[in-house]
Amino acid sequence: MDMIDPFGRSISYLRVSVTDRCDFRCTYCMAEDMTFLPKKDLLSLEELDRLCTVFIEKGVKKLRLTGGEPLVRKNVMHLIRQLSRHIESGALEELTLTTNGSQLSRFAGELADCGVRRINVSLDTLDPDKFHAITRWGHLSKVMEGIDAAQAAGLHIKLNAVALKGFNDTEIPDMLRWANGRGMDLTVIETMPMGEIDADRTDQYMPLSLLRANLERQLTLTDIPFKTGGPARYVDVAETGGRLGFITPMTHNFCESCNRVRLTCTGTLYMCLGQEDAADLRAPLRASEGNELLSNAIDEAIGRKPKGHDFIIDRRTNRPSVSRHMSVTGG
Ligand code: SAM
Ligand code: SF4
Repeated sequence: MDMIDPFGRSISYLRVSVTDRCDFRCTYCMAEDMTFLPKKDLLSLEELDRLCTVFIEKGVKKLRLTGGEPLVRKNVMHLIRQLSRHIESGALEELTLTTNGSQLSRFAGELADCGVRRINVSLDTLDPDKFHAITRWGHLSKVMEGIDAAQAAGLHIKLNAVALKGFNDTEIPDMLRWANGRGMDLTVIETMPMGEIDADRTDQYMPLSLLRANLERQLTLTDIPFKTGGPARYVDVAETGGRLGFITPMTHNFCESCNRVRLTCTGTLYMCLGQEDAADLRAPLRASEGNELLSNAIDEAIGRKPKGHDFIIDRRTNRPSVSRHMSVTGG
């Protein structure tokens, strides 16, 4: 009994933000002085496990942990270890995470041991000074150690870079050569207007159509039908023999094939990254020991998954389209 939304899309992918906290403060993602959710509102690791398990029973095949930074949640490996039973049983096809890489050198081996095969690492630049500037609190060397450790543990890595005008747009060809040279795909992402940040988003916004045109002056890009289950569209890069992905929420609408929903660390389910509508699953989770109320609440929520988002980055309003930060729903 799969979950099918009103537009006939089968919901098989759950992303769970296990914490909204982070050890970085990337300028496009967070304000430096962030107010986080009160700790008392957080779901326990056991509750997160129970929620994920119900989703898996209802047809979720792919589970991605994200945040905030998922690896800074206390005892997160306990949750991952628990969830790995669904990989072993075959109920879940993929258990994965999106991380900034800061803690990877510590956890890479254990992640591989829990059945994690692929991870996404966010990396916007290969220049240590620029890295520190964009993350405010991060150190590139630590992330590089993490990437080394993850590859040594046999994890496949996809790198994600947010394209930022005047910051890394001219560096993307070098990043691509470096990533592909180490057997990693790279995906570039357009900035999305989510949450108040200290910077002006219209200054940072870089349409990927423009980035692609610039890249094609030095690289040969060929569209390919390759898919990873996400919204990226891929090209082959003749010069590197690797792949480059484009995620274009702003310039290209990929909502038609959306197969995912997002759960926050307080048990709020967002049916669309770009809409405010949400369903509270914490109350039905806590209301009884059985899962019937929870299951009904999930069905009801999927029944109102919207057709798509309407992000715009508009100079006149200069306000986020969605007030919550990306770190709440985890991208
Ligand atoms: N902390 C982890 C990380 O950075 O990979 C996971 C959470 S982070 C919110 C997930 C992804 O969202 C990262 O790749 C980040 O670059 C991206 N992101 C954050 N804010 C964004 C925004 N406003 N627009 C587009 N992507 C954003
Ligand atoms: Fe933290 Fe990821 Fe947001 Fe950067 S993008 S501040 S690493 S949650």
